[in-house]
Amino acid sequence: MSAELQHPVYVVQRHDATSMHFDLRLEVDGVLVSWAVPKGPSTDPADKRLAVKVDDHELSYATFEGVIGRESDGTRRYGTGSVIVWDLGTFENITTHDGAAISAAAAIDRGHLVVDVHGQKVGGGFSLTRTKMSGRGENWLLVKVDDAHADRRRKPAVTQLESVLSGRTNDEVAAEVRTRPPDRGTS
Ligand code: MN
Repeated sequence: MSAELQHPVYVVQRHDATSMHFDLRLEVDGVLVSWAVPKGPSTDPADKRLAVKVDDHELSYATFEGVIGRESDGTRRYGTGSVIVWDLGTFENITTHDGAAISAAAAIDRGHLVVDVHGQKVGGGFSLTRTKMSGRGENWLLVKVDDAHADRRRKPAVTQLESVLSGRTNDEVAAEVRTRPPDRGTS
């Protein structure tokens, strides 16, 4: 799968953890800069979707599907739950500042990033803007740019629940892991 990965990577993983959310990840300087988006991306430019900045992930995580398990003593760890690749593709950083193009890394530092996404479920411009709202992490807002890909009626985060890699839903991934025989691998 990773052999087919196009760069720079845009990926959204649907993560059925303690709180269901979507993880939006963008490849910047060799890592996946990441935001947890509780409601997922919207194609309606009127929607402002909370996007909590979370830790960068390694590039190889872009195509991860499976179940993040419990601690060995059975307690749920942060992130316990199933993960699917909800959308995958590439993006172009189209951020400008004072009329000049700036790098994605500089845009993130400044707290305002605009990207043109080439995904399978969503596409076109999206802006990410850091806010002063207080919370557990850094709160940003993810907003669809009003362009040819904007659509006020589509609700892909609600109606298209399957993985773009495997066609599976989170529930199907979780069920497969529950019924899989114990791993007797050598590693
Ligand atoms: Mn997550």
